[in-house]
Amino acid sequence: MTAHAIEMRELSKRFGGGRSLFGKPRHTIDAVKSVSLDLRRGETLALVGESGSGKSTLARMLVGLETPTSGSFAIGGRDASGLRRDGPRAFGKMIQYVFQDPVASLNPRKTVRDILESPLALLNGYAPSRRRVRMQELLDAVQMPADTLERYPHEFSGGQAQRIAIARALAADAQILVLDEPVSALDVSVQAQVLLLLRDLKTRFGLSYLVISHDLAVIEAISDRVAVMYFGEIVETAPADRLFADPEHAYTQRLVASAPRIRRE
Ligand code: ADP
Ligand code: MG
Repeated sequence: MTAHAIEMRELSKRFGGGRSLFGKPRHTIDAVKSVSLDLRRGETLALVGESGSGKSTLARMLVGLETPTSGSFAIGGRDASGLRRDGPRAFGKMIQYVFQDPVASLNPRKTVRDILESPLALLNGYAPSRRRVRMQELLDAVQMPADTLERYPHEFSGGQAQRIAIARALAADAQILVLDEPVSALDVSVQAQVLLLLRDLKTRFGLSYLVISHDLAVIEAISDRVAVMYFGEIVETAPADRLFADPEHAYTQRLVASAPRIRRE
């Protein structure tokens, strides 16, 4: 297969518009404006930009949670409109979304067993015995003990909950993960551990990552390439080291200059 993991062509999303109940025109927000961007296979591509620049909207389109207003994209060489026609599970088999707030992203009324078992049953169609083996493998992969399965999300710390959320994403056997601010809700000491885990999982399972972050230290730690988003548009794309050493766009220059931990003298 030669296709990139994700290929976006002039992808746009507009919110609002039309008229309100009383006929007043509603204002529109162009959250994502004509984005053309590829995620290469095996790559970690960071999407950086300030709050409200459209990062989550772009990510939500890619995992099928939001429909583009115009433009197109393909996941693993398969056009999104085709995936949509194949039903709600087609996206989940190709691409998984890991949310910013790990505790909130896990159903508080379900045990970890239920949380991990449903993608194994629904997306992969595994029989019960195979699910048991696979759940053990997933817990090993994210370095959580076996008794995790019988517990509830609130019993875990933020870092542990994010490991469980990552295991759930891996359970789908998708090759592509979209990680939306995966460590920003965690303590700095825990952030490093989760980033190391993500790096290890990527090599082990041959994954491709689109990582959204506003934290340049996080981006520098894990990404191969960086795309900078500004008011819905990608204004600059560069290899991570080049971007930090020599930012081109005025917004990127300000971003790099305002990150003291990694500022280059
Ligand atoms: P980011 O993730 O970069 O902070 P978002 O994608 O969440 O940015 O938001 C981009 C813009 O789109 C913001 O102006 C936001 O208010 C708007 N937006 C996001 N989701 C919706 C929605 N469902 N309805 C209306 N506006 C939205
Ligand atoms: Mg966001």
